[in-house]
Amino acid sequence: MKPVAFDYERPTTLADAAMLLGQSNGLSKVLAGGQSLGPMLNLRLAQPDLLIDITSIAELTAVHDSSDHLEVGACLTHANIEDGRIPDHFGGLLQRVAGRIAYRAVRNRGTVGGSLAHADPAADWLSALSLMGADAVLATPRGNRAVAVADLALSSFTTVIRPDEIIRSVRIPKLSAGARWGFYKFSQKAGEFAHAIGGVLHDPARGRFRAVIGAIETAPIVVADASALFGGRFAPDMAEGLDEPAVLKLLDGKNVRDDYIRHLALVALKRAAKQAAAP
Ligand SMILES: Cc1cc2nc3c(=O)[nH]c(=O)nc-3n(C[C@H](O)[C@H](O)[C@H](O)COP(=O)(O)OP(=O)(O)OC[C@H]3O[C@@H](n4cnc5c(N)ncnc54)[C@H](O)[C@@H]3O)c2cc1C
Repeated sequence: MKPVAFDYERPTTLADAAMLLGQSNGLSKVLAGGQSLGPMLNLRLAQPDLLIDITSIAELTAVHDSSDHLEVGACLTHANIEDGRIPDHFGGLLQRVAGRIAYRAVRNRGTVGGSLAHADPAADWLSALSLMGADAVLATPRGNRAVAVADLALSSFTTVIRPDEIIRSVRIPKLSAGARWGFYKFSQKAGEFAHAIGGVLHDPARGRFRAVIGAIETAPIVVADASALFGGRFAPDMAEGLDEPAVLKLLDGKNVRDDYIRHLALVALKRAAKQAAAP
């Protein structure tokens, strides 16, 4: 199928993009890498009057390195991150995640902001940045507002982002030198979306022990204090000590009833814990 006819604008400032978005009464769509929006247009699942291409806005590819966090522009591509074009304060976690998204042609165009805004429950950034405690900074007509990535998605493909808001950046808290992480994406073929995601992050110097369970057909489960899931301690054998009934209860809370998805979620979380705690 072909998309319906639409107008196209390519502003070079965020202010102009916001103005165009504000004028369109919800009938326009922001275009970033087009890797999800393109198919949605072709299938006519999206029928905007106007596409606002934000990829020429320099502010959206800027990177700011501050003492406690790294702020990366929403239009950085997965490939930019895979190729190490941003400073690594995360023990290689961002690079690892980026490099396992789809295949190179998709990574060359797909952006971090587009991935978060699209909120596919199987998307890697939604789970990884939730695990890291990152915030999405939204440009709104009323100024900027920050939303924890963990609170961004309400369910599959549904977020708290309003039609007149644009994700401008993602603020990622830095990890200390002694931090450990594991991020396990299960997919049957390389380059596929995840069938399950498990993540564990332990940064004792910053008082963080977090976990994420993603690709569960709705927004990921983010556990801000994961110590109880692992018997209260971060240890080499903690994967074996995973409190499975507690994880299953979390899945019940999200109405995840499919036995296969529940099993994969447990396995992915255990494997992430193993990675994180490996000597
Ligand atoms: C074959 C294929 C395989 C894929 N595999 C994976 C995978 O394994 N893992 C994974 O995580 N992803 C995967 N993806 C998704 C891809 O990585 C992109 O991240 C994703 O498609 C959206 O990013 P985009 O920049 O292309 O956004 P677009 O397609 O341009 O936009 C997507 C949506 O977000 C909105 N949007 C875009 N940017 C912003 C912004 N800054 N502020 C507000 N709204 C915005 C758009 O209006 C649209 O609604 C795959 C895609 C394809 C085509």
